[in-house]
Parts: sequence; C-alpha cells; structure tokens
Amino acid sequence: IRLAGESDRAGESDRAGGIEARLAELTDRVRRTFGFEGLRPMQARAIEAALQDRDVLVVLPTGGGKSLCYQAPALVRPGLTVVVSPLIALMKDQVGGLTQNGVAAAMLTSAQESDELREVHRDLDAGRLRLLFVSPERLLREGFLDRLRRVGMQALAIDEAHCISHWGHDFRPEYRQLGDLRERCPEVPIMALTATATPRVREDIASALGLRDAVHLVGDFDRPNLTYRILPRTDLVRQVHEVIRRHGSAAGIVYCMRRRETESLARALAGKGVRAQPYHAGLASEERARIQDDFLAERTDVIVATVAFGMGIDRPDVRFVIHAGLPKGIEQYSQETGRAGRDGLPAECVLLASGADYHTWRSLLERSAEEAEAAGRPEARAELGPAIQRLGEMWGLAGGAACRHRVLVEYFGQEWTRESCDACDVCLGELAAVEESAVVAQKILSCVVRCGQRYGAAHVADVLRGARTQRLRSSGHDQLSTYGLLRDHPTREIRAFIDQLVAGGHLGVTGGNYPTLHLTRSGVEVMRAEREITLLRPRQAPRPPGRGGALESARAEGGPPVDAGLFEHLRGLRRRMARERGVPPYLLFGDRTLALMASYKPRTREEFLALKGVGERKATDLGPAFLGAIAEYLDGSCEPRA
Ligand code: ADP
Repeated sequence: IRLAGESDRAGESDRAGGIEARLAELTDRVRRTFGFEGLRPMQARAIEAALQDRDVLVVLPTGGGKSLCYQAPALVRPGLTVVVSPLIALMKDQVGGLTQNGVAAAMLTSAQESDELREVHRDLDAGRLRLLFVSPERLLREGFLDRLRRVGMQALAIDEAHCISHWGHDFRPEYRQLGDLRERCPEVPIMALTATATPRVREDIASALGLRDAVHLVGDFDRPNLTYRILPRTDLVRQVHEVIRRHGSAAGIVYCMRRRETESLARALAGKGVRAQPYHAGLASEERARIQDDFLAERTDVIVATVAFGMGIDRPDVRFVIHAGLPKGIEQYSQETGRAGRDGLPAECVLLASGADYHTWRSLLERSAEEAEAAGRPEARAELGPAIQRLGEMWGLAGGAACRHRVLVEYFGQEWTRESCDACDVCLGELAAVEESAVVAQKILSCVVRCGQRYGAAHVADVLRGARTQRLRSSGHDQLSTYGLLRDHPTREIRAFIDQLVAGGHLGVTGGNYPTLHLTRSGVEVMRAEREITLLRPRQAPRPPGRGGALESARAEGGPPVDAGLFEHLRGLRRRMARERGVPPYLLFGDRTLALMASYKPRTREEFLALKGVGERKATDLGPAFLGAIAEYLDGSCEPRA
C-alpha cells in the first residue's frame, strides 16, 4: 500500500515484506479480539504507518473508527502505548471497552480511588499494561514521562488532537503544552487523531506537536448512514414528538438554543410518555453526571440539551439528533449531528429552523461582542465578522435546496462526486417545488419594496396574507397593491418562503433587534424575471426510516429475518448484565450484534463466535448467558435466568 504523503525512502522496501506479515498478523488479532471482519481502508493505512514507527495524523469523522488506529498496533507491539485524552468520560469508555474484550488497559485520572490508582501503578511497573490513558496534565507531571520510558513506552497517541489548535472550536490550554513531547521523546512515534477537519486546524496540529515527516490521512467526511431533513419549525413539540415516535424507544438527542427551552420541551415530552430529561450547563454537576449515566445505562431515551451536552458521550446507538433551532455554524451542526449513528446503522438528523433563529443569534453575537469590547477585549470586534459569516453559511444550508450531504462534504473541503445521496430531504424528493415559484417570489419581493424596505418578515407576511390588524391599518399597508396577494397560503408558509429568499441571498436583512428586509441585486433580478427561482415546501410527512435502525440493517444484510421479540429480550439481558458490571450496555454488545443474534439464533459457541462483533473473550465471558437467553426464548419461556 502506498501511503498518502509518503516520500520514497531508501531501505523502506526491505522492510515492506515484514510490514505485510505484521499487518496480516494484526488483522487476525483484531478479528479475534473485537470480532471485526477486517480493517477499514483508512485504519489499515494508519496502522501500517504506525507499525513503521512513523508519526501519523488521522482525521476521520465521528464513528470512523479512530480508536482502532492506535489500539490495534498496541495489541501486537511489545511495550506500552500511552493515549492522551481530554476527558475522563472518554477514557472510561475506552478502558471499559478494551477490558470487556480482554485487552490489558487502564487509566490514571483524578476521579479514581487511591487503591485503584495503586493497582494501576503496580500493573504499569510490572509491564502488564498494553494501553494507558492519561490526561495531558498527568503526562507532563514532573518525572512521569521518564518513568513511562523506563517501563517501556513504545508509542504515543493524542486523541481529540484539535484541542491543541486555537483555530478549532474546542481549544484547551493544557493541550498546548504537549508541544514539547516530540523533543522530549524523540524515539517514540506519535499518532494524533481528530474528527475536526478544516485544513487550517490540521496544519496547526501537525506543527504544534512538531510531528516529524508525518503521514497525513484524511478520511471521507460523508456519513452515508445519516439522513438529513430540514423543515420549517411550526409546532415544535408536535414536530419533535413525531420524530421520536417513529424511532420507538430508541436513543436520541434534541438540541435547543436556550436552557429554558430544554426544560419546557423535556417536560412536554415527558407528559407524552417519552423518557426525556433536560441537560444544560446551569445544572449542578452531580445532576448532569446523573443524567448522563441514565442516558448511557438506557434509563433515559431522549436528552433535551444545549450544546453543553456532547463531547464524551459515546453512546453509539443514538438513532436521531433533532435541532430545535438553528446551530451557529456548519461545523457545529456537523459535530452535533455526527453524534447520531456512530455504530454505522441508519440514523436521522432533523433540523427545525426559522428565520427568527438567525436574527436571535445575530443580535446575541453583536451584543456579546459589544460587551466584550466594553470590558477591554477589542479583538472581540474582529471575531464578530467571521462568526456572522459562519451563521450565514448555516442559514444558507438550512434555506437552500442543494443535497445536504453535498453541502456538508464540500464545506470541509472535499469533493462530492455522487449524483444523489438518497439520504436527505432534497434527494429523497420530500421537498416539492411550489407551482409558479417565480410569481410567488415576485409577489413577496415587490411587497418588500412597497413596504419601503423598512419592515421585517412578520409584517411583510401579514400584508401578503391580508391580515386585519390594527398595525396594518395604522401603517396604511392594508391599502397596498400587494395586500392579500398570497391569501391562499398559510402564514407559516409565507414566512418559510421569505426565509428561503433570505437564505438564497435575494433578500438582505439589516438591523439588530428589529431586523428589516431589503432587496439585494439578485433579488431585483428575480423580481424582474431575469433570474430563475424555485421555492420549496415539504411534500408530505417524511418517510419513516423504520423503527429500529439495527433491525432494519440486519435485514438488509440478507440473513434470516430478525425476531424483534428476541431482540428486545436480548436487550433486556444486556441491560441487566451491564448494570451488574457497572458499565454501559453498549460496551457488552452493540445493537447490530444483538440484531444478528436475533436473526441467526445461534445455539453453540462456534455459531456465536461467528457473529460480527463477538470476539473470543466475549464468547467465553458473555456467550453462555446470551446463548442461554436465546435457547430459553426459542423454547418458549422468556423468564430471565437467575
Ligand atoms: P471514532 O472514535 O472515530 O468516532 P470509534 O473508534 O468509536 O470511532 O468507532 C466507531 C464504531 O465503529 C465503533 O462502534 C467501533 O466498534 C466500530 N468499528 C471500528 N473499526 C471497525 C472495523 N474495522 N470493523 C467494524 N467495526 C468497526
């Protein structure tokens, strides 16, 4: 395999044969340990470079399988791999997952009891560990690096490496100190991993870490298993509940713009029988930890949150992410929707947006820039422009009619080559072109002109709708020639059309608290019928993607039909066993593996071990209980085993 960015180097070909053999050995180990069929292409390239002791930068989207890139070499390489991670929750998840698969892994954090820490130190000194997870502060503590080298540290992995960059959205000062690692441990290869992809951040990571002639591997940023839908927000609770209902009792996240809204929406959903809880930075930290635990342990299905909820939540079976309002930028939107379907199974992302969100964010950004400036941070003004630009790009995505996958992929600087994604409202034909779009658009634009380009969207919509309000009478706008021209359209639809005209750049918006509309150059062209335009409306209720993503996909893989009753039975067993062990259920088996059990209904250890997602350790450790539950279910008794 040729590596991206690799220069031909003398002597390397001698070792190539050795590398191939090691890669084959490693693939076999991965199969036996994790039950995976093989390596994904980017993983193979990252691992190959790691086995050659090269520095590597891996940029893969969420769910792309970054962990395996450093876990797999650690299985076959003698000595210790040290992984730097910014969050205890992330470390816990990794260590839990590895331990369940029989890999010697541990972490050192401030959250552990002292006897547990003592045991980790003992294992470390005795060379019993393959992987050790630490925070950057711990790694750089006086003398710790020397000790790691004494006990045989062979490789370093820096997870969430974008935290080192000022340009990223998640800068952490502790990460910046990792900059002298390269010098202090010149003999240890470094692998940096991140899901944040802008080229500027990538460059910044490589130079801040001082990576040496590093192999840069950038994966495909498309997430084909995610279906994107963007709808005008009309009746929030009803719209959110509809999405939740079509996913049964699956896990989901609803993002809100305000804390207040998370609480009222969670309450409204709970009133409809949904196991939902609010989450935001204003809650006490124990409360937040409890809610997170409930979500991981499947005691809560839906989290209604502000952006405070996310990093460190690795539940892979999140089947939907709903945005109850416009996110502040495409990067943030992509990060948040990326939390759906990490297991690779179908998942849905629904954005319920309104033009009002744009203005809310915009005036908030302007206000906070003014406040920062007044508080002696003059650079805040310079940050305002880019922030408003990012917001505008997001609004362009929401109001536009281009394939959603395509817009996202191109935003991250990658080329889109497919005709259709078959996984967004645009490509699925869920948006219908409005008949006589051009005429409708002209009516709206000329109404904006008649109103003197001094009124906002609500007022213009009222005029077009022919509303009988005091305000219209007193402004005399009930006498305009455009009054009542769109009488046959509901107000919310007229608002959605105005939003589309703004998103398409045909109408401009000015002003902070009372934004007003005006025509842009292209708006004038549309009004004069010199430019084509298509307005869209939702065609019908979106086609439900089917209840369980796991059940659907197991069916699509072509095995015997999945027994939905058995699947639920096994989910119950998984939940109970996870509770006994104090780990989240998904660390025992993923939904896809459970669906395969409910499809192939194995009777023996060999049949069980043949399923994707079952490694040797789990076949021994969990196999008897699951085989027992399958046999019991098939023999007609569904009582849980004692
Ligand atoms: P990331 O850290 O990039 O978000 P993870 O490392 O958490 O991704 O992996 C995402 C999912 O893909 C996990 O459920 C993992 O078990 C699965 N996975 C990773 N590599 C493979 C593979 N080679 N074959 C099958 N599943 C894999």
